[in-house]
Amino acid sequence: MTTSHYIAGHWVEGQGSDCISVNDPALGQPFAELMAASVSQVDQAVAAARSALPVWKSTCASDRAAFLRGFAEQLGQRREALVTVQMRNNGKPRHEAEIDLDDAIATFGYYAELAEQLPSKNRTVPLAAPGFTARTRLEPVGVVGLIVPWNFPLVTSAWKLAPALAAGCTVVLKPSEVTPLIEQAYGQIADALGLPAGVLNIVNGKAETGAALSNHNGLDKLSFTGSNSVGSQVMRSASAQCRPVTLELGGKSAIVVFEDCDVDQAVEWIVAGISWNAGQMCSATSRLLVQDGIADTLLPRLQAALANLRVGNPLTEEVDMGPLTSQAQWLKVASYFATAREEGLQCLAGGHALDREGWFVSPTLYTDVPKDSRLWTEEIFGPVLCARRFATEEQAIAEANDSRFGLVATVCSADLERAERVADALEVGHVWINSVQAVFVETSWGGTKGSGIGRELGPWGLSAYQSVKHVTRCLG
Ligand code: NAD
Repeated sequence: MTTSHYIAGHWVEGQGSDCISVNDPALGQPFAELMAASVSQVDQAVAAARSALPVWKSTCASDRAAFLRGFAEQLGQRREALVTVQMRNNGKPRHEAEIDLDDAIATFGYYAELAEQLPSKNRTVPLAAPGFTARTRLEPVGVVGLIVPWNFPLVTSAWKLAPALAAGCTVVLKPSEVTPLIEQAYGQIADALGLPAGVLNIVNGKAETGAALSNHNGLDKLSFTGSNSVGSQVMRSASAQCRPVTLELGGKSAIVVFEDCDVDQAVEWIVAGISWNAGQMCSATSRLLVQDGIADTLLPRLQAALANLRVGNPLTEEVDMGPLTSQAQWLKVASYFATAREEGLQCLAGGHALDREGWFVSPTLYTDVPKDSRLWTEEIFGPVLCARRFATEEQAIAEANDSRFGLVATVCSADLERAERVADALEVGHVWINSVQAVFVETSWGGTKGSGIGRELGPWGLSAYQSVKHVTRCLG
């Protein structure tokens, strides 16, 4: 049993009614458990954040930056432990777990820099009217609730925590019940750095704990990453209190491959876009649009590349892809395999769970998937790629945009003018051209349409935790 809630600078045991099992998905077995926080512990965490706010928001920005650099440094010092727990609890291959950690470190370092620049962002505003002066002040939004999913726990939390703390907000973080161990590092680091009590609070739990936080009237903002169904509940709670939300939701993203592209590289980008984190990525490019002239060359190569992926236990084998992170996700992906069979889809690779212990599925490719198939329209969140052919650029853009989601897209073409033109026409928040899904902390993250509201990362990620105040003075 793990003591796992960090409230007002103390580690406390959960007093909720849910017992959370922490599983090793490669074995399909639990290896730890903890009690969820109770609703009254969520109250205590919000109260602690509220009472820490006045001091934290008036702490000099360079001192807040020093704490953020401390987070970056201490994450680095815990490298092996943090990589191992991600391999064990998420099923991530080592190189992916390392990249997640490096991303979190870079995020804290980046927002430390932005925190240092904060004083220079308060400006005088030139007015056309005589007799007045005006200036702006960027203030923290206040107490923020942060609710995150399980697929990139260290990273998703860092993308929220670092800018929120940089802006001068105090926070209550609710990690996913599927991966409740990894984010405890943030509480341990807060302890080690002497972060003032209550600035960062962590409560673990399932839906009940998340709902207690998102319904709490002591918050000034809620930032949520997760599914559309829970996102819309979170938005309803926020609307009842006229409170701002940032929502990072699901995706069903397209990768558009034109016939002039380098086929070997395109195969690499397509495979990475569907097998990284076993396809459990909001940004998975799970809809492949391939131009007629290259389809018969590309699809067999893709079939071979997917079949050659080494799938196994990241803790004991050299692998390219691990298991799905939870049994629920494994059952969900298996249900899409069943739907594909019922719909009679043509399967070029995979299409089944692996016959071994743990929650493994094979990397999967369906071709010529009808536009109205559930596999083409719904987010599966597993290594399941669906392909369709297209003839013209206009058709590719129309098909790529024909989705209720709008998170990301990838364009593969040797004609860079065309690639840029298509990137501009795609209704998404982020486009990669001839690239794997490299995410840089200076660029923005977030979607259009059903993929969410607001942006994380870059200066936009900081603005999400700030409010603008104008002070106007009459000179007469
Ligand atoms: P989820 O919505 O089930 O859970 C997300 C978080 O919300 C968890 O911490 C959960 O405990 C909590 N929660 C559950 N019910 C709640 C409620 N009623 N009120 C408040 N909180 C509640 O999502 P998941 O299965 O953990 O994650 C997968 C989803 O997240 C996918 O749809 C994926 O696309 C999305 N996602 C989006 C991004 C992005 O940046 N757009 C990034 C990662 C994941």
